[in-house]
Amino acid sequence: MNDAAPNAAPQTFYLKDYKPFGYEVESVKLTFQLSPNATKVHSAIRFTPKADAEDNRFFLHGEQLSLISAKIDGTPVTARLVDGGLECDVPGRSFLWEAEVEIDPAANTALEGLYMSNGMYCTQCEAEGFRKITYYPDRPDVMSTFTVRIEGDEPVMLSNGNPTGAGEGWAEWHDPWPKPAYLFALVAGDLVNHPGSFTTKSGKDVELNIWVRPGDEGKCAFGMEALKKSMKWDEDVYGLEYDLDLFNIVAVDDFNMGAMENKGLNIFNSSCVLASPETSTDANFERIEAIIAHEYFHNWTGNRITCRDWFQLCLKEGLTVFRDAQFTADMRSEPVKRIEDVIALRARQFPEDGGPLAHPPRPEEFQEINNFYTATVYEKGAEVIGMLKRLVGDDNYYKALNLYFERHDGQACTIEDWLKVFEDATGRDLSQFKLWYSQAGTPRVKVSEDYADGTYTLTFEQSTPPTPGQPEKAPRVIPMAVGLLSPNGDEIRATEVLELTEAKQSFTFDGLASKPVPSILREFSAPVILERETTNAERAFLLAHDTDPFNCWEAGNALAKETRVAMVLDGAAPDAAYLDALEKLVRDDEQDPAFRALVLSPPSQSDIAQTLHERGHTPDPQKIYDAAETFTQTLAQQLETSLPRLYAATTVEGPYVPDADGAGKRALNSRILSLLTRLDGGEQAARQYASADNMTQQYAALAALMKAEKGEAQSKAFFEQWQDDRLVMDKWFALQIACAAPETTAATAKELTQHPLFSMKNPNRFRAVMGALAGNHAGFHHASGAGYQLLAENLIALDSVNPQTTARMCAAFQTWKRYDSKRQAQIQAELERILATSGLSRDTHEMVSRMLSA
Ligand SMILES: [Zn+2]
Repeated sequence: MNDAAPNAAPQTFYLKDYKPFGYEVESVKLTFQLSPNATKVHSAIRFTPKADAEDNRFFLHGEQLSLISAKIDGTPVTARLVDGGLECDVPGRSFLWEAEVEIDPAANTALEGLYMSNGMYCTQCEAEGFRKITYYPDRPDVMSTFTVRIEGDEPVMLSNGNPTGAGEGWAEWHDPWPKPAYLFALVAGDLVNHPGSFTTKSGKDVELNIWVRPGDEGKCAFGMEALKKSMKWDEDVYGLEYDLDLFNIVAVDDFNMGAMENKGLNIFNSSCVLASPETSTDANFERIEAIIAHEYFHNWTGNRITCRDWFQLCLKEGLTVFRDAQFTADMRSEPVKRIEDVIALRARQFPEDGGPLAHPPRPEEFQEINNFYTATVYEKGAEVIGMLKRLVGDDNYYKALNLYFERHDGQACTIEDWLKVFEDATGRDLSQFKLWYSQAGTPRVKVSEDYADGTYTLTFEQSTPPTPGQPEKAPRVIPMAVGLLSPNGDEIRATEVLELTEAKQSFTFDGLASKPVPSILREFSAPVILERETTNAERAFLLAHDTDPFNCWEAGNALAKETRVAMVLDGAAPDAAYLDALEKLVRDDEQDPAFRALVLSPPSQSDIAQTLHERGHTPDPQKIYDAAETFTQTLAQQLETSLPRLYAATTVEGPYVPDADGAGKRALNSRILSLLTRLDGGEQAARQYASADNMTQQYAALAALMKAEKGEAQSKAFFEQWQDDRLVMDKWFALQIACAAPETTAATAKELTQHPLFSMKNPNRFRAVMGALAGNHAGFHHASGAGYQLLAENLIALDSVNPQTTARMCAAFQTWKRYDSKRQAQIQAELERILATSGLSRDTHEMVSRMLSA
């Protein structure tokens, strides 16, 4: 059932080729007769030719469909099946198109279109899955109202919008809001609901449901509360209200993405909605709250206002990620959220921007749009909106957003439309700012300083390295938030935003009694790499005194990186001043525990590799691993006498509550436990494991023990306890590999692929194993090449089952040019082996070709 594309280069689509569809779609009526291997889909669609159409070709997308019949105004017609769909001769006036097709949901392991997951029917249509359900102009700028009738013997049968009728063996739904086909959804199966309700600010009552498989009802309460909080927050902050009588969420085990914002019927990967204290960690709870908010916020930013074409994907995703980050900051801690987001950006987006897969937030060409659901489109897309808000100010930002909703409600829009509302609301010219949408690569900003006669000068030079297809870059608008501290640690200039617009630019600060210490790029005001010569003494000063929490953390993070880089390059011992600063901070009970936990979390080994690469060194994964181990061991010894007290002081007593406060304390407590376990032989961790009544503490204890190679008994017990819970088992699979030593990582992962509970058909399980392999930096990049080989073998095997997940996981190889020539040769051989696979999907073909050709 998969696209068996030939190994020749598939078709490329270009932004510049955009042409509107030549017909209006007035209404869509779909009837599904469900059957696992032979579902019949009848469509009745009213088309009207557009008077001003540039192109009257009547082409409907369709893939993997068996066409049974086609009619126009009731008369049978012969449609011509062409590559990717069908063409037909149609009247030059409004007409009713009817088609009947047959599809095979049970054989659909690609999880796009209509498929089955554990006996339940469900759909995933973004980006181009609807064409696997019926023939249709499957493009986001074609919007219509949908009426859906589902016939089958499933107890629960759901679609978008509001229910309009139901009886024995059938259900009907109508969605009054015009939408593109990618927002279509259907779910049918043996489901139970966790109900709730919400009254909007204008007094409309909305029925809410979270639908799950019987047995999972107890894991819905947190998600339901998150949904209500999201609905309230969007009213309070953006003035946006929900617009249907009903909002349904369904949890599905087999799902390629995190969740999908189908109008009125969100479909979630069960890992992103099901939660209970016994089975979910604090990190799971935070992520679930954020994803529920994200999908709900799409109702306006994505559904009511959608994208004209898929090149504009960041219009809905960048904005919605930005909105969900604002929500999490409001619900939890603003500085902690910002730090977490920057860590994630540097871990996922910066390597993308610096490697062969680099593309701008609005790409201008693609072969398979599924390959552009990337950190650049999502996370960098959100950073661009954060910069825009900082440049125009909060009041202007909300003024522009109000204009956006007023002007474009019900439309399919572009980045140009989006920027125009800001220009109209503020009078500002954003033509230079727009470069952020078209230029790939992370800008480097070099900072130098000068002080004379009370005047302090900061000079910034920006440049962006070449990326595929973009050798030269023009200077961008970079909002640089800067504050100044006096040598005694007082803040003498509060944060101000300097606007960089030229390749080189200076800013002066007058009337200063002595040379200040600058705090630059506060709140990480732009997604750039700052280059500035400074000392560890100054970093330690900022760690102790900076009033900006982000830069305070950043100073500590820079110290951690410097000491680890020196250990790798020169075999230096861990920096004593840094260890002292860390100890002081860990013991400082005045500081937020979540913040202390972040400072105490070392930069990832991949991050150190990236830093070494940026500085012109070839990273050695084994040396980076050894430095990390030595550093952690030294830190544990330095803290030895205070660890038991710190552990006791940060242990959260009483019943588990997944709130920000408790989560912060537990994060710090877990960091301390992992250090303690290196010294006490695992005694405390074993006690915590035995007594834990929640997954956060049980998992933290297990992880600490396994990392210290003392967790064999607990790992067995964990398996026995949780083997019937798929989501907890994903954690167990991943943890074996994450904790493995470099030389045993690939073998551990290989053994787990033979485990009876391993499955290629479940993306979560596949990612738990292969994602953990790629995430264990020293293990994946072990000199034997076994990690590369194992991943390649599994990607080749997965490609014929699920091309989308295969292609996305190929990105594990994207940093290959960082490493030495032997590793490069090993990876290149694996990439070439994947590319030579016969019948390779279009998705994987594109990803591997891009990595090889750069
Ligand atoms: Zn989204």
